[in-house]
Amino acid sequence: MTASPQTNLHPRANDVGDSYWLPFTAMRQFRSNPMMFVGAEGMHYLAADGRRVLDAMAGLWCVNAGHAQPRIVDAIREAAGRLDFVSSFKMSHPAAFELAGRLTGIAPEGFDHVFFTNSGSEAVDSALKIARAYHRARGESGRTKLIGRAKGYHGMGFGGLSVGGIGRHKRDFGPLLPDVAHLSLPYDHPSMGFSRGRPETGAQYADELQSLLQIHDPATVAAVIVEPVIGSGGVYPPPVQYLERLRAICSRHGILLIFDEVITGFGRLGRPFAAQALNVAPDIITCAKGMTNGAVPMGGVLLRDFVFEAFMAGPPEAIELFHGYTYSGHPLACAAGLAALDVYEELGLFERTAAIAPTWEAALHSLRGEPHVVDIRNIGLLGVVELSPRSGEPGVRGGLCAQSCYEDGALVRASGDLIVLSPPLIIEEGQIEQVAVSVRSALRQID
Ligand code: PMP
Repeated sequence: MTASPQTNLHPRANDVGDSYWLPFTAMRQFRSNPMMFVGAEGMHYLAADGRRVLDAMAGLWCVNAGHAQPRIVDAIREAAGRLDFVSSFKMSHPAAFELAGRLTGIAPEGFDHVFFTNSGSEAVDSALKIARAYHRARGESGRTKLIGRAKGYHGMGFGGLSVGGIGRHKRDFGPLLPDVAHLSLPYDHPSMGFSRGRPETGAQYADELQSLLQIHDPATVAAVIVEPVIGSGGVYPPPVQYLERLRAICSRHGILLIFDEVITGFGRLGRPFAAQALNVAPDIITCAKGMTNGAVPMGGVLLRDFVFEAFMAGPPEAIELFHGYTYSGHPLACAAGLAALDVYEELGLFERTAAIAPTWEAALHSLRGEPHVVDIRNIGLLGVVELSPRSGEPGVRGGLCAQSCYEDGALVRASGDLIVLSPPLIIEEGQIEQVAVSVRSALRQID
């Protein structure tokens, strides 16, 4: 990936036409100033104008081992030439079984089964369906209710959207699933702001689940779904003991606990899964993103043995789960997944993440006191710098800050007035410093 700066590598890069409707994008604004990339390698994107831009977002929370990782690239190439596609309905291929074994090998103890999907959204909707079907298989078909959480992001399927807790995502698409309740955000700005890592206070927010179960008969509740660390909703690490308390309440009432680890899976907190880093065992884990290092779409649902076994009680010729996708366990995705796990292991990437996380924390919190900064939250190699909104213009300040960083050579994500950071786990100390310097100088420049 070499190019001299300011040469336009793609002469028509700014001529984007109007055929392609991008997700979550202000199309008319995008067309007037399209952010276009033509290459990527390691920690960097190559922009269409020839500039190398430090990727502080790991693509979209997914490129954990850095871009165009040679071993993953080779594996995908090789697989594409050997077995391009095979249905996973009543047939399969060896790499799918190998990957399933490798995944359950790094998953928390007792997670012995995996169901493949093609995205995080599909993983979540699959998990919710499996939770309901699990209770039905055990003769408790009245357990259908689902409990999510404010600010939760569980993808864009109707199931994930229903249990999700970001109002703007739901507004235009109702009615959503009935029989869904939500816990509130376990966070209070004045008292918990600028916590380093997990807030020490706030465990009592979990007791809300107990209150909800006074409104909803526990025998009607199938599952509680939470991200161990709220990601897209604003990077909120769980208060100490909060997840433990949720776990205890679920166990007491026979409710399945689902951790949505689409972001936290594959090392972001310094262990394969957040369940291990935070030492709380759910019953079902959803994952995606880092599963293939972002190189091929893939997701999965990891299941504790007792959940899987509940489906195996019928006659052997009976299909146990009437659910799946054309591309479940796709050969290219499996090849990418296997290579990604090899790379993570060889680099010792998860341990490295745990080792460098304190440097990350210190760099982020050095931004405290800069203009507009009202909170900073971090855990593992995740972080957010929350800005005060400009009066009457929410989101503008965040957008200006991200734009300024981009011009300075660092790609950060603005989500409203949040500057969200989730770099590839291979980030070096000097690059952490570069991100902090970029955000600092942006904050000092904007308005
Ligand atoms: N769950 C979580 C926690 C996520 O962060 C995301 C994506 N950011 C999803 C689900 C949805 O994943 P996808 O976009 O791959 O469908």
